[in-house]
Amino acid sequence: MTEANDFDVLVIGSGAAGLTLALQLADHLRVALLSKSTLQAGSTWLAQGGIAAVLDPQDHFENHVQDTWIAGAKLSRPKAIEHTITNGPDAIRWLIDQGVPFTQDQQGYHLTREGGHSHRRIIHAADATGRAVHETLIKKCP
Ligand SMILES: Cc1cc2nc3c(=O)[nH]c(=O)nc-3n(C[C@H](O)[C@H](O)[C@H](O)COP(=O)(O)OP(=O)(O)OC[C@H]3O[C@@H](n4cnc5c(N)ncnc54)[C@H](O)[C@@H]3O)c2cc1C
Repeated sequence: MTEANDFDVLVIGSGAAGLTLALQLADHLRVALLSKSTLQAGSTWLAQGGIAAVLDPQDHFENHVQDTWIAGAKLSRPKAIEHTITNGPDAIRWLIDQGVPFTQDQQGYHLTREGGHSHRRIIHAADATGRAVHETLIKKCP
């Protein structure tokens, strides 16, 4: 193996998950990102509506947990729901720090309400959120 191909970590998949992991590891490790097609192929680029997280002061983790539990027909793993929801706001803040242009209005970031949610908690970039997230994270890759 040449030095150019010598990496500490190989991340397979260039969607939001793979790009997030690769960018977070790249501070201290040499990371290669592999995708089976173009960087844009996959679900992330296609996602439109937005990302659900507890961002409104009127909303609470318990509300989001309960909505998710009901929407999942009470079949989801409670620990997975809780982990995902309590880490949601930090994940959104990380995306904002990377430069994702989420839609704002005079009150701040605009939140929509979608089916199954008891509160407004969908942060979005117009109606092409996945594309905005994907383009921003791809640009951050050296
Ligand atoms: C039309 C649509 C609309 C959606 N809207 C929303 C929404 O509004 N809000 C929301 O939260 N979620 C939405 N989703 C779901 C969301 O897009 C996905 O949950 C999310 O993008 C998954 O990210 P990911 O990185 O795990 O997968 P992906 O973005 O699909 O990335 C997978 C990566 O793996 C690569 N790959 C796959 N197989 C291989 C292989 N064998 N070898 C190498 N590489 C491989 C692909 O090329 C790709 O780079 C939507 C999905 C779709 C399809």
